[in-house]
Amino acid sequence: MQKSNNSESEHSSLRARKRVCIVTFGCQMNEADSEDIAVSFRRRGFELTGELKKADAVVVNTCTVRQKAEDKALSQIGRLRKWKRERPHGKLFVVGCAAEKLGGKFIMKKFPFVDAVIGSKSIAGADEVLEGYFGAGLREAPAESLFTSPVSAYVTIMRGCPLKCSYCVVPSVRGEAAYLPAEEILGEVKARAGGGAREIIFLGQTVNSYRHGKTDFAGLLRRAAETDKVKRIRFMSPHPLYFDDAFFRAFAEEPKLSRHIHLPVQSGSDRLLKAMRRGYDRARYLGILKDLRAAAPDAAVSTDFIVGYPGETEEDFRDTLSLAREGGFAFAFCFKYSQRGDAKGLAPDLAEKEIEERLERLLCEVKKNSRDILNSRIGKMEEVLLESADSGRTSSDFKVKLDAAAGLKAGGLVRAEIYGADKNVLKGRPIP
Ligand code: SAH
Ligand code: SF4
Repeated sequence: MQKSNNSESEHSSLRARKRVCIVTFGCQMNEADSEDIAVSFRRRGFELTGELKKADAVVVNTCTVRQKAEDKALSQIGRLRKWKRERPHGKLFVVGCAAEKLGGKFIMKKFPFVDAVIGSKSIAGADEVLEGYFGAGLREAPAESLFTSPVSAYVTIMRGCPLKCSYCVVPSVRGEAAYLPAEEILGEVKARAGGGAREIIFLGQTVNSYRHGKTDFAGLLRRAAETDKVKRIRFMSPHPLYFDDAFFRAFAEEPKLSRHIHLPVQSGSDRLLKAMRRGYDRARYLGILKDLRAAAPDAAVSTDFIVGYPGETEEDFRDTLSLAREGGFAFAFCFKYSQRGDAKGLAPDLAEKEIEERLERLLCEVKKNSRDILNSRIGKMEEVLLESADSGRTSSDFKVKLDAAAGLKAGGLVRAEIYGADKNVLKGRPIP
């Protein structure tokens, strides 16, 4: 998925400011890394732009989780040849997971107009690289003034991954798991709240495996919930292996915790879950869904599925289809298996046509369930965190379009009676 950060209005300063365009592919971790890079640029007097032609510097933050993502990032870099030709003084940086996997040498050879390559393992040093190009900047600027103020803000609590799922490139490009100190995380939560954020989204590949010193994941959530101005806390992605009683207690007790859990399952077949080295079977996964819903009956769960894992039989696939039904998922991302590195599955590989067909069948099942789950929310009272004056999200992360009412603005919390659903969006009447 390609996204460029929102452009900021050109106000106040009469002095022509330099502009940076940050193009981000991939997951929320990449988006969070792009936000950090944006802060480094702002310290050096840059403002963000969504338009390449206005940019004095461009950052392409790449993804490699599936081949298609890598191809997209590389073709974006290719298209920047012209940008660089027209602006010999413009600076072009390629960062992130594909940069890590392919290496600086490969990228500079293929795209000699690139100025610097920073792989995901070195992303924490991006500020130093920028210092080499644009000077030290304002190191002491208050963090609040450097963040944009979206209602939701990502906060990374761990880097890398402690697991080694057979199909996954993440551990090799993002490295071993490393957890950030709780004080540092809580400091960032405070800074983001000061900058206007009302929802904090904790990020990590197995985010609920968090532990640093005496603080475990449940403890971190409870402490973050004490932050003034923070109205909601979400996290992604948890892994089925790391839930514990302390978490379920916090999930039941802490009203600021979002009642939406994105819990990737990948497959409904025990044989495939084993080959994938996921560490759980179908029964254990379903047991966790039960525990989550016992702790918070209104919780909504979403998931990821991989279709066409090497050796996936029709029977394995049916197990996935039946899990898509049984899980009661609010939505699910369905990915075609993409061969990464030397990952090996069970032979034989499937024909492309067969994978496409299975993907269609799964999407159809997922859609049907999503509709039912959405409709089941009609008639309920929900607390909506406003993203604009007339729309927002429930704690269970359903989008709600609200009837017009006075005094509503982004960042506010409002109670609303849900009276309908249109496509993927609930309709609500604000209750004063
Ligand atoms: N850490 C998370 C997942 C991160 S990757 C977890 O373990 O739950 C995001 C999603 O990309 C995964 O859930 C998986 O569904 C998908 N994915 C990862 N590698 C893939 C591959 N080689 N082919 C297809 N999909 C893949
Ligand atoms: Fe990849 Fe598995 Fe780690 Fe998720 S838990 S990032 S799928 S290795």
